This record gives sequence, C-alpha cells and structure tokens, in this order.
Amino acid sequence: MTEILRKGCIVLLVIMILIVIIGSFGLFGQNFLAGLLYLIVGIVATLFYAGFLFLFLDMAEDVEYIKYKIMEIDRKNNKDKEEIKDGWKCEECGRVNHSYTGTCACGKAK
Ligand SMILES: [Zn+2]
Repeated sequence: MTEILRKGCIVLLVIMILIVIIGSFGLFGQNFLAGLLYLIVGIVATLFYAGFLFLFLDMAEDVEYIKYKIMEIDRKNNKDKEEIKDGWKCEECGRVNHSYTGTCACGKAK
C-alpha cells in the first residue's frame, strides 16, 4: 500500500521539478535573475515538500508495522488461552499443563 504511494509521490515530485525547470527556462529569456530565483525557490520548496511526504510515508509504514506486531501478540495470546482450555491446572502450584502430560513439573500427578 505505502509502496504504491511512494512511487506515486516520486512521479509527482519529478513532474513538479520538471514544471519548475521549464518555468524557469521561460523566465530566463526575460530576466535571468528572476529565472534563477524561481528555479532555486521551486526546487527547495519541492524538496521540502518531498521531505514531509516521505516522513509521513515512513510514519505510515511504522504504524502498519506496529499494527502487525500487535496483531501477532494478540494471536499468540489467544493461542496461549486455547492451550489452557484443553490443558489442566495443577492444584499444587497452579501451573497449566498440556492435556497429554500426566505429571506437573512440580511432581504432582494429574
Ligand atoms: Zn504443579
């Protein structure tokens, strides 16, 4: 998802830089200084905008990663609960054992 957005942003930025360059060439013919200023300001503004855009995309990717990790932890917790469900709890120490084990780690039999 963010990979598509990233590619879209790069295309957009290239178009913006091209517009700035073409625009400045138009101005160079009339006034060299104005054209140069337009070129510098345009490129700096584009790069500044690009920086924010990529920072935002990186953050979006981090959020995706965190969401994935939370889901993974949730899945693991649910798995643990399932194990408790079909296992048995030791009366002696409270440890939860698998249903196929007959003796708890503390030595108490099922
Ligand atoms: Zn025990």
